[in-house]
Amino acid sequence: MPKQASWMLRKILATQPTWNELQQPLKAGKSIVRQIYLQLLEYNVRVPWKCMMFRNAARPKAIFTLWLHIQDRLLTKERLVAWDMDIEPKCIFCDALLETRDHLFVLKDHPGPVNWNTHLQWLIKSSKGNSQAAQVVKMVYTEGVHAIWIERNQRQFEQMSRSVEVVAKEVAVTCNIRALPGIQQLLRQYIF
Ligand SMILES: [Zn+2]
Repeated sequence: MPKQASWMLRKILATQPTWNELQQPLKAGKSIVRQIYLQLLEYNVRVPWKCMMFRNAARPKAIFTLWLHIQDRLLTKERLVAWDMDIEPKCIFCDALLETRDHLFVLKDHPGPVNWNTHLQWLIKSSKGNSQAAQVVKMVYTEGVHAIWIERNQRQFEQMSRSVEVVAKEVAVTCNIRALPGIQQLLRQYIF
């Protein structure tokens, strides 16, 4: 571990499983954050869902949420309970079932039999390639995941809740602003 790494960075590097996947040792005398960033980019190149990360017009903070979401690293109640935290594990939206990633983002109102793997396969298939449809799918999905997570946190920690319609409208407006002109037209067919 290079000496110039701050104590916080040392802690992060020591605890986050992702960092264990760094392939090369960090070099002293060079920016640590930059080295990690570049290695994570390479890491993403090797995962089957890399298409979700590239040419995604969603906001960077939404892409970061997506990155955690796909790897099931968002701090859902299921994960907190697994770490022996004494909390109420029910989903804040339905107040009935255990809050897991798949319940929050995939299964909630899903009609058919679906699990995370089939969902991810569908996502990868729909986001691959350079078509406008693929770019719409990944941007809307990314902003949608981010919006659900923010809404969950606001309900959980700030006792503020908005309707599904309001959240969906906000996602639609954000995507419409960020979409390149060609994609904007396609987007409007989908969501307006
Ligand atoms: Zn629920």
